[in-house]
This record gives sequence, structure tokens and C-alpha cells, in this order.
Amino acid sequence: LFITVEGPDGSGKTTLVRKLGACLADHLKVPLTVTREPGGSDIAEKIREVIIDPVNKEMDDRTEALLFAASRRQHIIETIKPALTRGEVVLCDRFVDSSIAYQGAGREIGVKEVATLNQFATENLTPDLTLYLDVDAQVGLNRIGSELSNREKDRLELEKIDFHNRVREAYHVLLVNNSERMILIDASQSKEKVLEDTWQVLKSKLQG
Ligand code: C5P
Ligand code: MG
Repeated sequence: LFITVEGPDGSGKTTLVRKLGACLADHLKVPLTVTREPGGSDIAEKIREVIIDPVNKEMDDRTEALLFAASRRQHIIETIKPALTRGEVVLCDRFVDSSIAYQGAGREIGVKEVATLNQFATENLTPDLTLYLDVDAQVGLNRIGSELSNREKDRLELEKIDFHNRVREAYHVLLVNNSERMILIDASQSKEKVLEDTWQVLKSKLQG
């Protein structure tokens, strides 16, 4: 079972993945692999460093999309596929939907182009379940403002509210087009309520 968590910046993905991981590990009879993108393997983490280094702020949008896809492929090959083959449950912070939303819509490369690039990278590996944490773009940005390192702030400076609105819009389109795997969670709620809602969704998925 391959589960991904998606959502705009400040939607609470990372916190949720940590708490959900603990709940899942208690509940499951098989091992759980918790991982995140970009990264999740040595090579993939190195590519992540190149992507997020503010020294590289001149990076071309398509170069960025290619690096995300390259990092993702290596992560799949080294970490995700082997775990799934061993029969484990994999819980991953971000996946292809992030690239479609951020590079495709946010950077305006085109949703179709980025989807095609990622079909090549993933050989169509698709999550069984995607928990989409929905929050207003400005609310999300306000939340993380205080928690960010300077290097992350530098990145966000470049990405104004229009960018984040396009990202959220794209997630909404993905939600409509992938309703069989994507579940919307209201992430404007408290962290406790978001955890409760997602845990209910997950439990019913595990039973069914
Ligand atoms: O996963 P996390 O929220 O920590 O992402 C780190 C940064 O990378 C965020 O600022 C996010 O906007 C950006 N990102 C991106 N394209 C992706 C995934 C993340 O621009 N495909
Ligand atoms: Mg995060």
C-alpha cells in the first residue's frame, strides 16, 4: 500500500506524516516505511540539496522539474519500490502531484508536460491513496513564516502569493480528476482534528 500526503506550503504535511506514521506503525501488522520528497535516498537527497540551495536561484524552471523527477526516480528505485515489494506500507511526504502543482501550474511549465515527464520517471507508479491537506494559500504561508530557516525564506520570497494560489488551484483540479485515490482533508482545522480526520480515512482504507 502506497500512501502519499500532499498540499500547499504550510498545510501541515510534515507534522501529519510524523504523527500518522506513529499511529500506523502501532496499528499495522506489516512494517511501515515513512519517507519524503525530494529525498528519501542518498542520491535523491543530494539532488534535493541542489534544488533547494539558494545559490542556485537562477535555476531554470524546466531544470528544476527535471531534478525533481530525477530525485523522485532514484527514491522510487532505492526506497519505495523495494519496500512495496517486501509487502510494507509506504507513507510519503509529497510525490508526483507536487510536481504537477508546483512546477506544472506554479511555475507554469504546463500540467500535461510535467505529468508526461513524471510518467517517464515513475513508470506510472501511482499512490493507492493520497491525503490532500487543503488550506488557503495565504493562511499556509502565514503559518510557516515563523518556522522557516533563512534559506527557505529566500526561496519563498521568490514565490509570491499568485504562485501559491496556482499551486492550490492545480491540486483542486487533480482532486477532481483523481477522485478514486485523492481524499480532501480540511487542513485549516487544528492539527489534532486534521490527524483525527486522516486517521479515520486511513483506517477505513486499511479495512476495505
Ligand atoms: O515538502 P516541503 O513543504 O518541505 O517543500 C520544500 C519546498 O520545496 C517548499 O517551499 C515547496 O514550495 C517546494 N517544492 C517545490 N516543488 C515541489 C515540491 C516542493 O517547489 N515539487
Ligand atoms: Mg513539509
